[in-house]
Amino acid sequence: MKVLVTARMPVEVISLIEGEHQVESYQEDPPLERQSFLRRVADKEGLLCTITDRIDAELLDGAPALKVIANYGVGFEHIDLAGATRRGIPVTNTPGVLTDATADLAFALILATARRIAAGDRRVREGKFTYWGPLLFLGQEVSGKTLGLIGLGRIGQAVAQRARGFGMRVLYHSRTRLAPAAEQELQVAYALRETLLQEADFVSLHVPLTPETRHLIGRRELELMKPTAFLINTARGPVVDEAALVEALRRGQLGGAGLDVYEREPELSPGLTDLDNVVLLPHLGSATIETRTRMGLMAAENLLAGLRGERPPNCLNWAEIQEK
Ligand code: NAP
Repeated sequence: MKVLVTARMPVEVISLIEGEHQVESYQEDPPLERQSFLRRVADKEGLLCTITDRIDAELLDGAPALKVIANYGVGFEHIDLAGATRRGIPVTNTPGVLTDATADLAFALILATARRIAAGDRRVREGKFTYWGPLLFLGQEVSGKTLGLIGLGRIGQAVAQRARGFGMRVLYHSRTRLAPAAEQELQVAYALRETLLQEADFVSLHVPLTPETRHLIGRRELELMKPTAFLINTARGPVVDEAALVEALRRGQLGGAGLDVYEREPELSPGLTDLDNVVLLPHLGSATIETRTRMGLMAAENLLAGLRGERPPNCLNWAEIQEK
């Protein structure tokens, strides 16, 4: 069958699919532009796509042979899942394999913001590291502080585990509360969202982007945070009202922010890059060689199962399709 892979992938991934099917693999940077994507997918049975590909009604209507959509990533807000379900197309994602890499990056942002690592690096590169002084470049201690996790799924829990090594108190707010035994084992305490925002020294976001989580952190929530607190976002940009965040940072209402994702990615809100107390990364959450390879192989396995007409291991809408 014919398969479109929309982005450059580790070679093992392409080889695995080529073992069974005919692959058209887009090998350029930047990603496929829309019209070219629509043209290429039109006659394909299999699609391996990424977050930068919008899978909407127009695309689904224009690709009537599609039998499976395998997403390279855990978040799937760029895919019209209901539309795919109506057309009987299984959609898959890659949960779990990117948990540690993303949790590591969230912790890297916690440390980078609190200890002013990016600003310090800039200072050295500018040739301005000319002397040492007891009061120069003071940051905030991470050890022993309070970490507030919003969303305590796979990645949120992995961040909580890392926080234990730093002797942090961990509060969490999530849609579903953990069982008491699980809270105890993970050494986390449930808190109302307002309480968490008021008490945390670091607020780290780990919810998916859904209609309910869009602008979960807006002006009101930022006002509740301590003036020394840091906001860390490795979830999805639109979970934060970015204009309100820039305004809060400008006014000194927050200690700083560490962002891996942006509201209108890859566009940045005006003023964000002028702020010295933000650390800005280009959506690197899962970007390790090991994780990106595992994600690709998992997406390929999902795709191959879907093309065989079998239930893909990580299918998001299998039950709904069977009920139709
Ligand atoms: P997950 O295991 O599904 O965890 C998500 C958590 O958020 C769950 O605990 C969920 O509660 C909770 N939640 C959902 N809606 C909520 C709401 N309205 N209010 C409060 N909590 C809510 O997902 P994950 O694997 O940890 O990944 C989380 C997200 O991280 C992904 O969806 C993706 O967008 C993002 N991500 C980013 C990168 C990156 O490169 N920066 C990499 C990987 C993932 P329930 O238990 O009730 O479902």
